[in-house]
Amino acid sequence: MTLNQTHDPARRSWVTDANDEATDFPLQNLPYGVFRSGPVATPRLGVAIGQSIFDLAAAAQFGLLPESTTDACRQTSLNDLMALGAPGWSALRSRLSELLGADTCPVGPLRLRAESCLTPMAGATMFLPAHIGDYTDFYASIFHATNVGTMLRPDNPLLPNYKWVPIGYHGRSSSIVVSGTPVRRPCGQLKPADAPAPVFGPCKNLDYELELAAFVGPGNPLGTSVPIAQAAQQLFGVVLLNDWSARDMQTWEYQPLGPFLAKNFASTISPWVVTMEALAPFRAPAFVRPAGDPAPLPYLADAADQLSGGLDLTLEVWIATAQMRAAGAAAVRLTSGNFQTMYWTLTQLLAHHTSNGCNLRPGDLLGSGTVSGPAKDARGCLLELTWRGAEPLKLPNGEERKFLADGDEVILHGYAERAGARRIGLGECRGLVLPTAD
Ligand code: CA
Repeated sequence: MTLNQTHDPARRSWVTDANDEATDFPLQNLPYGVFRSGPVATPRLGVAIGQSIFDLAAAAQFGLLPESTTDACRQTSLNDLMALGAPGWSALRSRLSELLGADTCPVGPLRLRAESCLTPMAGATMFLPAHIGDYTDFYASIFHATNVGTMLRPDNPLLPNYKWVPIGYHGRSSSIVVSGTPVRRPCGQLKPADAPAPVFGPCKNLDYELELAAFVGPGNPLGTSVPIAQAAQQLFGVVLLNDWSARDMQTWEYQPLGPFLAKNFASTISPWVVTMEALAPFRAPAFVRPAGDPAPLPYLADAADQLSGGLDLTLEVWIATAQMRAAGAAAVRLTSGNFQTMYWTLTQLLAHHTSNGCNLRPGDLLGSGTVSGPAKDARGCLLELTWRGAEPLKLPNGEERKFLADGDEVILHGYAERAGARRIGLGECRGLVLPTAD
């Protein structure tokens, strides 16, 4: 993907707080979301700019947007926009960059129109950005797979298929919630290793998983596959994903068919979809496989993808316990990883998913799997950080955690930062753990 004027780091917005260095949403980002604000009850599409939302429905009404994107911008979810494909996405981004740029939209009638489409983000309610028809979760970090495998099978941590086939499972879309939605501790079957039979009760080993998730664009008809060289054009953008996990339920239920109730009680995503075009300045080479690892099979091998299929994206986990919040203490960072450490690229995941003729549809969500790097402070879940509870975490206020406690709030952040580019962020993905329902 080539860089254009929408990426120019020197450009500024007339929305002045979008020029703050620390903002996740400068003029160069322009992520899409679904919001409701003020007296208008219907959700509408918007673009995050600084601490405001640019209302796409209002802009379409004024005739400010490209003709080919107007209908899609008047919907209550991003699915139609996702279905437009790369030319439509680029045309809209380019126009939004013009409308919100200080240089391209000087004081005058057009600026007044554009200003009237702004709403403060603080007073808005955010919704899931799209109707998610299908959700698949992968397992693309070899560091995560090796750590988890070491705990389960010390002699044989990484199964022989890992370096050949992108491992994944079909998740559940009905329980995907938007950031800010509280998550209830699930109940399920638990069987401690030394107990003769399982019991049914509240999960004791509740965990989060730090992930990136990609929204699918136009998709492919059933019975066809997306060649790896065309897979990038099928990716609309990314959000943060917390794949909440009940480890004790998972240990007992996962064989032989994989994750089920340990994973589908809730999955939280961030509300703003950062487009692949916004991420273009932060492309990176795909993970360099150590000598001796097999090369990807031809249907997963593409020179351009090897050169720039990775993303230089920092992903973080923060925690605020009930005690910390009561004391007015700030959240503490538990993990800082980078998406470049993933063994498979997003395009490889998408190409593999369709390689058997499986159809993907606009708004389908592909989770990357837990993002863990080689360093200890880059482990993307508590299972790895505390080594299944053997090495409890010590928080600055003296509290300890093996797994999550009721009242804990988990906050994911993500951002991309590079010399020669404007820093952009993914916003946040936040979820508070509530006790099991009575
Ligand atoms: Ca996961």
